Amino acid sequence: MRTIKILCLVLLLTPLYAVNGHAAPVSDNGGIREVIDKKYEKRYQEWKNEFLSTEIGRAQWDMYTHHPRLVLTITITGSNPQGAATGKYKWNNSGELIAATITLGSQVDHGYPSVVYYPVMNALQPFESASLITGTVLAATKIAHEFGHVMKIAGTPESLYHLQAQLAPVYNRIFLSNGYNTKDPRLVELAQKMGGNPVEVWEDREYWGEANAMLFLRDRVAKEKFHCRLFGKIKRAVEEYAKNYEERFAEIAKSQGAIYACSWR
Ligand SMILES: [Zn+2]
Repeated sequence: MRTIKILCLVLLLTPLYAVNGHAAPVSDNGGIREVIDKKYEKRYQEWKNEFLSTEIGRAQWDMYTHHPRLVLTITITGSNPQGAATGKYKWNNSGELIAATITLGSQVDHGYPSVVYYPVMNALQPFESASLITGTVLAATKIAHEFGHVMKIAGTPESLYHLQAQLAPVYNRIFLSNGYNTKDPRLVELAQKMGGNPVEVWEDREYWGEANAMLFLRDRVAKEKFHCRLFGKIKRAVEEYAKNYEERFAEIAKSQGAIYACSWR
C-alpha cells in the first residue's frame, strides 16, 4: 500500500513542488485580494457567502482581511474546473509568509476528490445525492480546505518549505531508479531532512487542508439531523486511510464538546 501510494504520487508531485516563491515584498499591508472574472462573480459570491455562513468561516476570513502582512489572493480559473490549489507563496526577509494565492476551479461546486486523501470532502457525496446539501456547501468546503493550506504553510519555516521543494525531485529520481525501495539509505537520509518522504510531506499538507474543511463542516452541519452520520463517515475514512493523522481530526470532532463528537469519543 505504502509503495503503491508513493509510486502513484511521484509523478503527480513534481509540478506541485515546482510551484514556490522566494523573498520579494509585495505589499506593506496584508489583506484579501479577490481577482474574480465577471463571468464567475455570481457563483463566487454564493460560495463565499456559504463559507461565511459559519462562525469559523467568518473568523478565518476576518483574520486574513485584517492580516498585518499576508496578502491572500483568491481567484477562479476555468482550467482544472472542479479542483482548487494554493501556491505562489512569498516570504519577507524575516521568513514570514507575505503572499499566497488560492485558485478555485470554475466548477468547485462539483466533483468529489478521492476518499484516500480527501476523507472530509469525499464524505459529502452521499449527502448531496440525497439532497441534504447542495454543491454550494461542497464549494465552501473546498475553500475551507485551501484556507487550511494557507494556515499550515504560514506555520512552516520558509527554509523547510524550500528544502522539501528542492529535495522531493531528488528523492523521486532515486526512488524510480532503485526498484521503489524506500529503505534505500539515501532515501532514508533525504526523508529525515525533509521531515518525511515526498508523499508523507504531501499527504500531511492535504490532511491539514482536510482538517480545516472538517472545522468548517462542524459548524455548517452542527444543527443538521445528519451531522453524526457525516462525521461517522469521515471517521471511517480517516481510520482506513489516514490512521497516522487521526489525532488532528479527532481534536476537531471533540472541540465543541460531546454533542458534536458523535462517534469520535
Ligand atoms: Zn489540498
